[in-house]
Amino acid sequence: MIDWNAIDTVLLDMDGTLLDLHFDNYFWMDHLPRLYAAKHGISHQESLTHLQETFHRGEGTLQWYCLDHWSQHLEMDIPALKQEIQHMIRLRPFAIEFLSWLHTSRREVLLVTNAHRKTLEIKMANVDISGWFDQVVVSHDLRAAKEEQAFWHGLQALHPFDPARTLLIDDTERVLDSARDYGIAHLLTLLQPDSQRQKRLNTRFPGIHHFDEIMPGLPVNG
Ligand SMILES: [Mg+2]
Repeated sequence: MIDWNAIDTVLLDMDGTLLDLHFDNYFWMDHLPRLYAAKHGISHQESLTHLQETFHRGEGTLQWYCLDHWSQHLEMDIPALKQEIQHMIRLRPFAIEFLSWLHTSRREVLLVTNAHRKTLEIKMANVDISGWFDQVVVSHDLRAAKEEQAFWHGLQALHPFDPARTLLIDDTERVLDSARDYGIAHLLTLLQPDSQRQKRLNTRFPGIHHFDEIMPGLPVNG
């Protein structure tokens, strides 16, 4: 699936790729709606419907990924609420093994995330993987989400890479579309970003379940 001889740089997404997306899905679709319902004296269903409509607007934009925006808009301290359930933050299977293997393979490895710095801090306080990367790149610092071409141009200026010899692994297909448009040649998605949800069947990009499938020298388990 992957010709490692053709790859010098590996770009890795955080949520849903290295980390289990269950934390984020649980927070935005369960924990927060419950607290929002209590705050406004509405039913859980009303809260859920209202929030889902709100979240649907502007999806994939930098503002949509901004915790300060949501804290202000909902008048709730989102980072503090995330901290309440931080014990649920988990790495995906084989994430450390994969990072460790990449490190020994002497490739350039970058974390590229749309997550807000505050989210990154909460995640890294629980599963500190930041030491495995040559650079941790937060899209807010480049003022463009990965869904926008400006992100890749900004990344190129910050940390030069050859798109033809670069692999991006990301669970969001719109991000993979954007990376492909920029010229990144090797693209992979995740078939089960959230361990508590069904495996995805119709991905538009080649997908893996776990990283062991693309690590040379490891037997692949079905
Ligand atoms: Mg992701």
